[in-house]
Amino acid sequence: MFWSVLPVTFTNDLYPRAFSWGEEKVVSTVVKKGASIGANSTIVCGVVVGEYALVGAGSVVTKDVPRFGLVYGNPAEFKGFVCYCGRRLSKVVGIREAVEKGKGEGEEKGVCKEREVYKCECGQEVEV
Ligand SMILES: [Zn+2]
Repeated sequence: MFWSVLPVTFTNDLYPRAFSWGEEKVVSTVVKKGASIGANSTIVCGVVVGEYALVGAGSVVTKDVPRFGLVYGNPAEFKGFVCYCGRRLSKVVGIREAVEKGKGEGEEKGVCKEREVYKCECGQEVEV
C-alpha cells in the first residue's frame, strides 16, 4: 500500500507500439507496503518498489528499488536509505542476519543474508 495524492504514472507495456496491443503484453509492477512515490513520478512496468522505499518527485523509475531505498532522477538512481519516518539514514550501528524467503518454487528454505542496521535521528533502528 502506498499513499500519494498527486499524480503518479505506471506503465504496463515494456515494448509499447500503438499498432500491437494485447492483454498478454501487460507487465505488472509491485509497490510494497509503506513505499512512498513522489508527485509526477513514472514507474516503468516490471519494477518492484521495496517496502518503505522513497521515490523522489518527478523521477522515472526503471529499476527495482530496494527496501528503505531512496531513489530519484531521470532515470532514478539509488541515493541511499531512508527511515520509516522518511529521514535519510547515514549512521550504521550494526549488522544483523536475516532469513529471507526463497523466491522460486521448491526453494522453501530461506536464504541467510546480512543486513546493515541504521539508527535514525527519530530513534528507530532500520534493517536494510
Ligand atoms: Zn526515522
